[in-house]
Amino acid sequence: MSATHAIGVDLGGTKILAGIVTRGGEVLRRHERATPKTQEELFEELDAAVEELLTDDVAALGFGIPGPVNQLTGQIYEAVNTPIADTEFRGRMRDRFGLPVGIDNDANAAAIAEWKAGAARDVDNVLMLTLGTGLGGGVIANGKPFRGSTGAGVELGHVVIVHDGRPCQGRCTGRGHLEAYVTGVAATAAAQEAFGPAADAHRLVRLANEGDETARSILADIGRHLGSGMGSFANIFEPQVMVIGGGFGVASWDHVMPAAEEIMRREALRPMRDEVRVLRAELGTAAGLIGAAFVAFEALDAV
Ligand SMILES: [Zn+2]
Repeated sequence: MSATHAIGVDLGGTKILAGIVTRGGEVLRRHERATPKTQEELFEELDAAVEELLTDDVAALGFGIPGPVNQLTGQIYEAVNTPIADTEFRGRMRDRFGLPVGIDNDANAAAIAEWKAGAARDVDNVLMLTLGTGLGGGVIANGKPFRGSTGAGVELGHVVIVHDGRPCQGRCTGRGHLEAYVTGVAATAAAQEAFGPAADAHRLVRLANEGDETARSILADIGRHLGSGMGSFANIFEPQVMVIGGGFGVASWDHVMPAAEEIMRREALRPMRDEVRVLRAELGTAAGLIGAAFVAFEALDAV
């Protein structure tokens, strides 16, 4: 069997993205399906997503999951906005397809993709923040993905930047977490407060691009909050590169990042603040499936 290709699957709340990926991170073919509402249907769709891409060149499968995974047992506890809960996911997929299977948190997978094939190629210490409807994060430390004791990864969105601040999103019971201040959801809430109920994060960015001072100041304020988190992360992880991705992160870059970098360099100590470079993600919406494929190769090479 040739070990040149893997299938990467990025499971999201609204869609499943799957692709055949080379060891260099090139996507050869890709498909997209809607995410169904029950666990049984979801497994049928995941099976079909793999089957339609499966060829003799495919040596392993990888899955990016929007939630914490257990690398020791292959278990998924829950996946945000999907019907998966408490499932022996990796074993189930390995039995179904007879191939090595890797799983990872989706934000970790995106970080691995940008490290192996995107903005942070050939850098040993990388921290990625994915700003979409939520805030995902991933860390590469000394040339290896940092995964913690069970491999769940890091939840960089759930660090406190404001004591007793805003309630966090979704099932998180915390307050003042970074995620509550810097996502597309937070931007939409601020846009509606300033411009009325029809406004959202897209319109906010468009208005800022057109020179609207209110929109620009809202995005700069989001940037300052983001910078508080980034400064803390620089102090903890000493990354050489921070990659900012996600739909909102990339779209709002020009308005959010100058303020974020200014605050980050205020909060970070030397040498962290002098060393760290902040780069825009390069792989876009394909980062998740490319990263999932790299996780597949990792599982293959560990066999
Ligand atoms: Zn939280």
